[in-house]
Amino acid sequence: MSVAENIKAVRKRMELAAGRFGRTIDDVTLMAVTKAFAPEVIREAYEQGLRLFGENKVQEFAAKAGKLADLAHAEWHLIGSLQSNKAARAAELFHAIDSVDSLKLAQKLNATAEKLKKRIPVLIEVNIAGEKNKGGIVPESKELQQLLEAAASLAGLDFRGLMTIPPMANDPQASRPHFRRLRQLRDDIESRHWKNIRMDVLSMGMSHDYEVAIEEGSTCIRLGTAVLGERPGK
Ligand SMILES: *Cc1c(COP(=O)(O)O)cnc(C)c1O
Repeated sequence: MSVAENIKAVRKRMELAAGRFGRTIDDVTLMAVTKAFAPEVIREAYEQGLRLFGENKVQEFAAKAGKLADLAHAEWHLIGSLQSNKAARAAELFHAIDSVDSLKLAQKLNATAEKLKKRIPVLIEVNIAGEKNKGGIVPESKELQQLLEAAASLAGLDFRGLMTIPPMANDPQASRPHFRRLRQLRDDIESRHWKNIRMDVLSMGMSHDYEVAIEEGSTCIRLGTAVLGERPGK
């Protein structure tokens, strides 16, 4: 199937899933995850009307960005783990960082934002199931508490919500409790009214489980294969 056909099929399923949750398709943003795809394929998605794109490596996007610079309305988000020493480069290349997973990284990004005199939109990445060897901050951790407290003094960052990647599973229903938990964490953080913390965005759901994610309140699904096809080199 072509990218255009994929997008059409995904939109239909998004609409149905949103309806089951008492919402409309306008409540959910479709992000195309373009890692490993060539600029020509990304351009195709743009021509089909997609405007939000996710890449997971600074280096890889730096190499592609020149060929995509004319896509004036594209918004590029980093969704992969970011080392503090690449924070400055990431802040130049991306419109937003959706994978802030430590206080140290937040501080680095904040310093860069102040230098560049801009405000960087960020999401906090949550390791919702507390998996070993996985990026993200664990919900009950001291680190999350410290980050929320520090946000007030990190004025260069615009905290907009949470992002998660649940444990790998073939059955999309296996993701449901994790998505629900992220939504509850969002509600909990919101109810505490931290300064400089907004909780408008819940970035959850990938190609195999996005319908479940929408049913559980996702506001941004991140789709690679479902939109662009099999990833090259997989
Ligand atoms: C690769 C990736 C995706 C998309 O994966 P698909 O299964 O192709 O939809 C979404 N989110 C993150 C963080 C990723 O790294």
